[in-house]
Amino acid sequence: MDSFPIDYHLHTKWCEHASAEMRDYVERAIELGLNEVGFAVHMPVKDQPHEKDSLTEREVEKYASEIEKLRGEYASGIKIRMGAEFDYYREKPSKIERYIAAYDFDYLYGSMHDIDGWLFDWAEYADEGWKKLGVEEAYEKYFKLLVTVAECGLFDILSHFDLIKKFGQRPAGSVLLLAEPALAAAAAAGMVLELNSSGWRFPCAELYPSPEILVSWRQRGGTITFGSDAHCPKDVGRDSARALQVARQAGFDQCVVFEKRQRKLIEF
Ligand SMILES: [Zn+2]
Ligand SMILES: [Zn+2]
Repeated sequence: MDSFPIDYHLHTKWCEHASAEMRDYVERAIELGLNEVGFAVHMPVKDQPHEKDSLTEREVEKYASEIEKLRGEYASGIKIRMGAEFDYYREKPSKIERYIAAYDFDYLYGSMHDIDGWLFDWAEYADEGWKKLGVEEAYEKYFKLLVTVAECGLFDILSHFDLIKKFGQRPAGSVLLLAEPALAAAAAAGMVLELNSSGWRFPCAELYPSPEILVSWRQRGGTITFGSDAHCPKDVGRDSARALQVARQAGFDQCVVFEKRQRKLIEF
Protein backbone atom coordinates (compact mmCIF):
# COMPACT_ATOMS: atom_id res chain seq x y z
CA MET A 1 0.00 0.00 0.00
CA ASP A 2 1.12 3.51 -0.76
CA SER A 3 0.95 4.79 2.81
CA PHE A 4 1.61 8.11 4.51
CA PRO A 5 5.19 8.40 5.71
CA ILE A 6 3.71 10.01 8.85
CA ASP A 7 0.29 10.32 10.45
CA TYR A 8 0.13 13.31 12.80
CA HIS A 9 -3.59 13.50 13.47
CA LEU A 10 -4.76 10.76 15.81
CA HIS A 11 -7.47 11.00 18.48
CA THR A 12 -7.70 8.46 21.29
CA LYS A 13 -10.37 7.64 23.86
CA TRP A 14 -9.40 10.77 25.79
CA CYS A 15 -11.44 12.69 23.23
CA GLU A 16 -15.01 11.67 23.93
CA HIS A 17 -15.91 10.71 20.38
CA ALA A 18 -12.86 8.47 19.80
CA SER A 19 -11.86 5.04 21.10
CA ALA A 20 -8.84 2.93 22.10
CA GLU A 21 -5.51 3.59 23.78
CA MET A 22 -2.53 5.42 22.32
CA ARG A 23 -0.64 2.15 22.26
CA ASP A 24 -3.22 0.60 19.87
CA TYR A 25 -2.65 3.41 17.38
CA VAL A 26 1.12 3.06 17.62
CA GLU A 27 0.87 -0.69 16.97
CA ARG A 28 -1.32 -0.11 13.94
CA ALA A 29 1.09 2.52 12.57
CA ILE A 30 4.00 0.08 12.92
CA GLU A 31 1.94 -2.58 11.13
CA LEU A 32 1.44 -0.12 8.26
CA GLY A 33 5.14 0.73 8.13
CA LEU A 34 4.84 4.43 9.02
CA ASN A 35 8.02 6.30 9.98
CA GLU A 36 6.34 8.54 12.51
CA VAL A 37 3.08 8.78 14.34
CA GLY A 38 1.69 11.71 16.28
CA PHE A 39 -1.32 12.54 18.41
CA ALA A 40 -3.57 15.59 18.18
CA VAL A 41 -5.46 15.67 21.46
CA HIS A 42 -8.08 18.41 21.79
CA MET A 43 -6.77 20.87 24.35
CA PRO A 44 -9.00 22.25 27.11
CA VAL A 45 -9.33 25.81 25.85
CA LYS A 46 -12.92 26.02 24.68
CA ASP A 47 -16.19 26.63 26.51
CA GLN A 48 -18.33 24.74 24.07
CA PRO A 49 -21.26 22.44 24.80
CA HIS A 50 -18.98 19.57 23.86
CA GLU A 51 -16.04 20.42 26.01
CA LYS A 52 -15.91 16.75 27.06
CA ASP A 53 -14.49 16.25 23.61
CA SER A 54 -11.33 17.88 24.99
CA LEU A 55 -8.92 16.60 27.61
CA THR A 56 -9.05 17.93 31.15
CA GLU A 57 -5.97 19.64 32.60
CA ARG A 58 -5.13 16.45 34.51
CA GLU A 59 -5.40 14.38 31.37
CA VAL A 60 -2.95 16.63 29.55
CA GLU A 61 -0.39 15.70 32.22
CA LYS A 62 -1.22 12.02 31.79
CA TYR A 63 -0.95 12.41 28.03
CA ALA A 64 2.58 13.81 28.30
CA SER A 65 3.74 10.99 30.57
CA GLU A 66 2.10 8.31 28.38
CA ILE A 67 4.01 9.73 25.39
CA GLU A 68 7.28 9.39 27.30
CA LYS A 69 6.45 5.82 28.27
CA LEU A 70 5.57 4.77 24.73
CA ARG A 71 8.66 6.45 23.31
CA GLY A 72 10.76 4.29 25.59
CA GLU A 73 8.92 1.12 24.66
CA TYR A 74 8.85 1.67 20.92
CA ALA A 75 12.20 3.43 20.50
CA SER A 76 13.39 0.98 17.88
CA GLY A 77 10.04 0.70 16.06
CA ILE A 78 8.67 4.17 15.31
CA LYS A 79 9.01 7.85 16.23
CA ILE A 80 6.18 9.04 18.44
CA ARG A 81 5.28 12.74 18.37
CA MET A 82 3.40 14.74 20.95
CA GLY A 83 1.00 17.04 19.17
CA ALA A 84 -2.05 19.02 20.19
CA GLU A 85 -5.11 20.40 18.45
CA PHE A 86 -6.20 23.85 19.65
CA ASP A 87 -9.41 25.68 18.89
CA TYR A 88 -8.44 29.32 18.63
CA TYR A 89 -10.60 32.10 20.02
CA ARG A 90 -9.32 35.65 20.07
CA GLU A 91 -10.15 36.13 23.73
CA LYS A 92 -8.11 33.19 24.98
CA PRO A 93 -4.55 33.32 23.72
CA SER A 94 -3.10 33.39 27.25
CA LYS A 95 -4.74 30.05 28.08
CA ILE A 96 -3.23 28.54 24.94
CA GLU A 97 0.18 30.09 25.62
CA ARG A 98 0.19 28.60 29.11
CA TYR A 99 -0.10 25.08 27.68
CA ILE A 100 2.47 25.75 25.00
CA ALA A 101 4.97 26.87 27.64
CA ALA A 102 4.20 24.00 30.01
CA TYR A 103 4.72 21.04 27.65
CA ASP A 104 7.28 19.88 25.15
CA PHE A 105 5.00 19.62 22.14
CA ASP A 106 6.40 18.50 18.79
CA TYR A 107 3.76 20.39 16.81
CA LEU A 108 0.59 22.40 17.34
CA TYR A 109 -2.50 22.30 15.18
CA GLY A 110 -4.68 25.39 14.90
CA SER A 111 -8.28 24.45 14.13
CA MET A 112 -11.75 25.89 13.84
CA HIS A 113 -14.68 23.56 14.55
CA ASP A 114 -17.45 26.11 15.16
CA ILE A 115 -18.78 29.41 13.90
CA ASP A 116 -19.98 31.59 16.79
CA GLY A 117 -20.79 28.46 18.77
CA TRP A 118 -22.41 26.57 15.88
CA LEU A 119 -20.67 23.18 15.83
CA PHE A 120 -20.81 22.74 12.09
CA ASP A 121 -18.72 19.59 12.08
CA TRP A 122 -21.05 17.66 14.41
CA ALA A 123 -23.76 15.84 12.45
CA GLU A 124 -26.44 16.52 15.09
CA TYR A 125 -25.88 20.31 15.02
CA ALA A 126 -24.93 20.84 11.41
CA ASP A 127 -28.41 21.55 9.96
CA GLU A 128 -29.39 24.43 12.25
CA GLY A 129 -26.55 26.67 11.08
CA TRP A 130 -26.96 25.96 7.40
CA LYS A 131 -30.61 27.02 7.71
CA LYS A 132 -29.73 30.16 9.64
CA LEU A 133 -26.65 31.35 7.76
CA GLY A 134 -26.96 29.94 4.28
CA VAL A 135 -24.05 28.34 2.48
CA GLU A 136 -22.22 31.42 1.14
CA GLU A 137 -22.24 33.23 4.47
CA ALA A 138 -21.20 30.13 6.41
CA TYR A 139 -18.20 29.62 4.13
CA GLU A 140 -17.29 33.28 4.28
CA LYS A 141 -17.46 33.34 8.09
CA TYR A 142 -15.52 30.11 8.40
CA PHE A 143 -12.60 31.28 6.28
CA LYS A 144 -12.55 34.64 8.12
CA LEU A 145 -12.18 32.72 11.37
CA LEU A 146 -9.35 30.70 9.84
CA VAL A 147 -7.59 33.99 9.12
CA THR A 148 -7.60 34.70 12.87
CA VAL A 149 -6.25 31.19 13.57
CA ALA A 150 -3.35 31.84 11.20
CA GLU A 151 -2.72 35.42 12.26
CA CYS A 152 -2.45 34.63 15.97
CA GLY A 153 0.94 33.10 15.18
CA LEU A 154 0.70 30.43 17.86
CA PHE A 155 0.41 27.28 15.76
CA ASP A 156 2.55 25.24 13.37
CA ILE A 157 -0.06 23.46 11.26
CA LEU A 158 -3.44 24.57 9.93
CA SER A 159 -5.67 21.50 10.17
CA HIS A 160 -8.43 20.30 7.82
CA PHE A 161 -8.37 23.59 5.92
CA ASP A 162 -11.84 23.44 4.33
CA LEU A 163 -13.64 21.46 7.06
CA ILE A 164 -16.76 23.55 6.45
CA LYS A 165 -17.54 21.31 3.44
CA LYS A 166 -17.75 18.19 5.65
CA PHE A 167 -21.45 17.45 5.16
CA GLY A 168 -21.48 18.28 1.49
CA GLN A 169 -22.80 21.86 1.33
CA ARG A 170 -21.03 23.75 -1.46
CA PRO A 171 -21.28 27.44 -2.34
CA ALA A 172 -22.44 28.44 -5.82
CA GLY A 173 -19.36 30.58 -6.46
CA SER A 174 -15.66 29.84 -6.27
CA VAL A 175 -14.47 28.27 -3.00
CA LEU A 176 -10.96 29.32 -3.88
CA LEU A 177 -12.04 32.95 -3.86
CA LEU A 178 -13.65 32.55 -0.44
CA ALA A 179 -10.61 30.67 0.87
CA GLU A 180 -8.08 33.14 -0.51
CA PRO A 181 -7.73 35.34 2.62
CA ALA A 182 -7.15 32.28 4.80
CA LEU A 183 -4.56 30.86 2.40
CA ALA A 184 -2.77 34.21 2.29
CA ALA A 185 -2.80 34.49 6.09
CA ALA A 186 -1.50 30.93 6.51
CA ALA A 187 1.31 31.59 4.02
CA ALA A 188 2.22 34.89 5.71
CA ALA A 189 2.33 33.13 9.09
CA GLY A 190 4.59 30.40 7.67
CA MET A 191 2.15 27.67 8.63
CA VAL A 192 2.20 24.15 7.26
CA LEU A 193 -1.05 22.94 5.68
CA GLU A 194 -2.37 19.57 6.78
CA LEU A 195 -3.56 17.08 4.19
CA ASN A 196 -6.32 15.45 6.18
CA SER A 197 -7.80 12.31 4.63
CA SER A 198 -10.85 12.08 6.91
CA GLY A 199 -12.97 14.01 4.38
CA TRP A 200 -13.34 10.76 2.44
CA ARG A 201 -15.22 9.30 5.41
CA PHE A 202 -17.94 12.00 5.25
CA PRO A 203 -20.46 13.28 2.68
CA CYS A 204 -17.99 15.79 1.14
CA ALA A 205 -16.02 12.69 -0.02
CA GLU A 206 -12.85 14.66 -0.64
CA LEU A 207 -9.48 15.44 0.89
CA TYR A 208 -9.15 18.51 3.15
CA PRO A 209 -8.09 20.71 1.39
CA SER A 210 -9.65 20.22 -2.04
CA PRO A 211 -7.26 19.71 -4.99
CA GLU A 212 -7.77 23.26 -6.30
CA ILE A 213 -6.92 24.78 -2.91
CA LEU A 214 -3.87 22.53 -2.69
CA VAL A 215 -2.64 23.64 -6.10
CA SER A 216 -2.99 27.26 -5.03
CA TRP A 217 -1.05 26.48 -1.83
CA ARG A 218 1.71 24.89 -3.88
CA GLN A 219 1.91 27.96 -6.12
CA ARG A 220 2.54 30.05 -3.01
CA GLY A 221 5.47 27.81 -2.07
CA GLY A 222 3.54 26.32 0.87
CA THR A 223 4.49 23.13 2.67
CA ILE A 224 2.33 20.21 3.80
CA THR A 225 2.00 17.46 6.34
CA PHE A 226 -0.30 14.40 6.63
CA GLY A 227 -3.01 13.26 9.02
CA SER A 228 -5.85 10.74 8.92
CA ASP A 229 -7.83 12.27 11.83
CA ALA A 230 -8.28 8.67 12.97
CA HIS A 231 -10.73 8.19 15.82
CA CYS A 232 -10.07 4.44 16.03
CA PRO A 233 -6.90 2.42 15.30
CA LYS A 234 -8.19 0.95 12.04
CA ASP A 235 -8.38 4.47 10.58
CA VAL A 236 -4.65 5.18 11.07
CA GLY A 237 -3.26 6.05 7.65
CA ARG A 238 -6.68 5.53 6.08
CA ASP A 239 -7.00 6.78 2.48
CA SER A 240 -3.26 7.44 2.37
CA ALA A 241 -2.91 6.36 -1.24
CA ARG A 242 -5.60 8.76 -2.41
CA ALA A 243 -4.17 11.64 -0.39
CA LEU A 244 -0.66 11.01 -1.71
CA GLN A 245 -2.01 10.98 -5.24
CA VAL A 246 -3.69 14.38 -4.77
CA ALA A 247 -0.49 15.74 -3.23
CA ARG A 248 1.67 14.52 -6.10
CA GLN A 249 -0.75 15.83 -8.71
CA ALA A 250 -0.50 19.25 -7.03
CA GLY A 251 3.29 19.03 -7.40
CA PHE A 252 4.38 17.99 -3.91
CA ASP A 253 7.03 15.35 -3.26
CA GLN A 254 8.08 16.42 0.23
CA CYS A 255 6.31 16.86 3.55
CA VAL A 256 7.26 18.45 6.85
CA VAL A 257 8.10 16.45 9.97
CA PHE A 258 8.34 18.03 13.39
CA GLU A 259 10.44 17.51 16.49
CA LYS A 260 9.97 19.94 19.38
CA ARG A 261 8.43 22.37 16.90
CA GLN A 262 11.48 22.31 14.64
CA ARG A 263 10.79 21.42 11.01
CA LYS A 264 12.47 19.12 8.56
CA LEU A 265 11.44 18.17 5.03
CA ILE A 266 11.32 14.53 3.98
CA GLU A 267 10.54 12.96 0.60
CA PHE A 268 7.48 10.81 0.10
ZN1 LIG B 1 -10.22 18.88 14.11
ZN1 LIG C 1 -8.75 16.31 15.14
